Amino acid sequence: MSAGRSRFTCHRALCRPTRSEAGAHMVNSRIPGLKNLTIEQRRETVVRNSPLSTEDLTAWDPATGLTLDAADHMVENVVGVLGIPLGFAANFTINGRDVLVPMATEEPSVIAAASNAARIARASGGFFTSSTAPLMRAQIQLVDVADPAAARVRILEARDELIAAANEQDPMLIQLGGGVRDIEVHLVDAPGQTYVVLHLIVDVRDAMGANAVNTMAEAIAERAAQIGQGRPLLRILSNKADLRLARARAVFAADELGGTEIVDDIVHSAALAVVDPYRAATHNKGATNGITAVVLATGNDTRAVEAGFHSHAVRDGRYTALTRFEKDADGNLVASLEVPMAVGLVGGATKVHPAAQRAVKMLDITTATELAEIIVAVGLAQNVAGLRVLATEGVQRGHMGLHARNVAVTAGATGKEIDRVSARMVAEKAIRAERAAEILAEVRRGQS
Ligand code: NAD
Repeated sequence: MSAGRSRFTCHRALCRPTRSEAGAHMVNSRIPGLKNLTIEQRRETVVRNSPLSTEDLTAWDPATGLTLDAADHMVENVVGVLGIPLGFAANFTINGRDVLVPMATEEPSVIAAASNAARIARASGGFFTSSTAPLMRAQIQLVDVADPAAARVRILEARDELIAAANEQDPMLIQLGGGVRDIEVHLVDAPGQTYVVLHLIVDVRDAMGANAVNTMAEAIAERAAQIGQGRPLLRILSNKADLRLARARAVFAADELGGTEIVDDIVHSAALAVVDPYRAATHNKGATNGITAVVLATGNDTRAVEAGFHSHAVRDGRYTALTRFEKDADGNLVASLEVPMAVGLVGGATKVHPAAQRAVKMLDITTATELAEIIVAVGLAQNVAGLRVLATEGVQRGHMGLHARNVAVTAGATGKEIDRVSARMVAEKAIRAERAAEILAEVRRGQS
């Protein structure tokens, strides 16, 4: 694809990416020795293995990325923009298609770990994914309803009228095949009274959907309250996106992981996370390390996705792990993950942030569902990588080098000093600010 050519078909409010021409990019995400490449070489790799042009990469350049003016149109009281490292995970093959995955994160080891787990999975065919329709819920809370049970039935009687009124709000969504699919009425007992809560179930197609469903909920709240004979209060989407699930599974060969004992230990570690909320929180964080990095890179709402993730993790009343780990009949590790994934391609920052647009282009996808499935595959890979390290050497060894570099920079090291100071601290197993300062002083005096 030639530099600067738009991949977006836009017609008024409708704007969705188009997949690059078939065969234009024979993507090979398997890139050995990636970490030893220079930034320039990595950029060439991205251009060779995605629809991105060299010019597209300027969106991730600190000097040419998000402008202050653009930022000022995104949020309030802008004084600057925040840089977060953007890398790509290699080795992913998802449903038989190789893909380089953009990840934005400040945490060392995350991108390397995801790439490493993806390398192991690809030997067994990679990741296989699926998902539900992109259904979101909006809630309309009715208060001061005298007869909640009867109100529920009255509202359900008016189902067709309410759905039609909500759909009138978004002709574009209807034209695209989305819109309200159903309503539910929940009676929620709270201290003091029973609230009648109307749920609008909306197919939001390629949108994250918050604005779309909020508009619908606001539009029909008065009428719902009239029918329910109460007062409308909250009218907003639920981030418990339990009808919008994406799933991924993959096999990790015992040999590639390091042996059958490691498979057993990973299964033990994961089993603890299923029953112990203290462990589950960290276990799930291991998955969201990857999930949030892709959500952020594509300009999606990280808080919405994390709210969905954690509310799903406690859906049975007890907080638990969402990834599942088993040993298959051949002794290999089988991992799977099913999680709410409210991400979009058409609204929010995804539409306006140049770096987010390039991230979507890098993935060469045309639907929000494809994005959701890629994100879940990355979350699964991330979790496997984390557990493998925990079940073997522990996290600190891998983290030490990068942590030492951060400590060296904090102590004032620049350029080649960073490697020299951090290498000494790692060798001495003394990664501390005061030691970094001492070594830096020695380096500068020419003693080291
Ligand atoms: P949006 O309103 O910008 O875009 C959705 C609209 O785009 C649809 O209503 C439709 O009319 C149109 N559209 C065009 N092409 C489409 C396609 N292919 N598929 C679907 N719709 C298409 O965005 P949104 O996704 O409704 O809202 C997302 C934003 O809302 C995010 O920035 C999020 O942070 C924010 N938000 C979140 C919450 C929350 O999570 N609780 C609350 C309020 C707002």
